[in-house]
Amino acid sequence: MTLREKLDALEALQAVDLEKADVLAEAAVIPVRRAELEVKIKASRRAYDEAKAKLEANERERRGLDQLLQMERDKVKKWEGRLGDIKTPREYAAMNREIEIAKKQNENANEQIRELTRAAGEIQRAIEVAEEAMVEREDEARTAVEALDGRQKEIDDRLRSYDERRAAAAAALEPPLLARYDSIRRRRPGAAIAHVIGGTCRGCHRNIPPQLVVVLARANSIETCPSCHRIIYNAEAVKPTAPGPA
Ligand SMILES: [Zn+2]
Repeated sequence: MTLREKLDALEALQAVDLEKADVLAEAAVIPVRRAELEVKIKASRRAYDEAKAKLEANERERRGLDQLLQMERDKVKKWEGRLGDIKTPREYAAMNREIEIAKKQNENANEQIRELTRAAGEIQRAIEVAEEAMVEREDEARTAVEALDGRQKEIDDRLRSYDERRAAAAAALEPPLLARYDSIRRRRPGAAIAHVIGGTCRGCHRNIPPQLVVVLARANSIETCPSCHRIIYNAEAVKPTAPGPA
């Protein structure tokens, strides 16, 4: 195997590995997106539930006040009925005063009920707005989740194909070189192979010692960068593979 052939095989393998890393990175984001959608749906449901609970509390309060008012009105009627039976003017005046106080209180209770009824109308409108927003959110989320499901399926299919593609690319390499490449990949994610241009490693942007630059110019051995340990080569010195017949 010429150096060019070895580097071609390495780069073919690296292309598969880098592509897989990209796909894995995208796959890792999918559960995060799902969780974000879930949070949005929950928030819109909460706004709707809160408005509903507010209306229920309002209705409970109105029912309680209504019952109380009914009882108080009955009481006033009873008192008014008894007025005719009262013998002394003093007792009559006292009873009349009680009736007036009770009537005033009932008036207040009635005003409170009217206020609650007004508030209930506003709450009802808020519920309608919240419900509309909730339905919209849920529709949006459903569409987004379907898109994520579709993407996940594509990713799963692609990831399954990588095992086969990688095995084929790895088989093209001599085992010691494959081991060397794998060990670089284990130590750092990303590219394991770098060009050297103008005496600088393009992987780590550090200078290569002059004697190594000379070795790279000979282009007949696999070398590694002393700084980042990537496999390095001088692209100009390594002749490109002659293009085959089209
Ligand atoms: Zn380097």
